[in-house]
Amino acid sequence: MGMKYRQYLAGERIYGCSTCKTHLATIHSMISRAFNGQHGRAYLFDGVVNVVEGDPSDRQMTTGNHTVRDIYCCKCGQKMGWKYDRAYEPSQRYKEGKFILERNLLMDVQ
Ligand SMILES: [Zn+2]
Repeated sequence: MGMKYRQYLAGERIYGCSTCKTHLATIHSMISRAFNGQHGRAYLFDGVVNVVEGDPSDRQMTTGNHTVRDIYCCKCGQKMGWKYDRAYEPSQRYKEGKFILERNLLMDVQ
């Protein structure tokens, strides 16, 4: 497993890791602010960069059963949220392949 080069994002608003400021996502890829993470508010993103994905596991949430992978900052290893591999409820399928980032673990890096 080789170390990836970190990507740098450009745009008017960039969210980064609160620990090491590694770029993670832009406001343009944000789908929703109305999510809850394990540490409070969380955002749903269409795509993120500079994260490492953990192994899949099934997690029961208020919206049903999901298969998710925790995601970690590729530089400092902080757990940032998770990725939805699969949603079992048809109404939740739009989340598949999308990413949750915890608001409290993000900082504006611009
Ligand atoms: Zn970091």
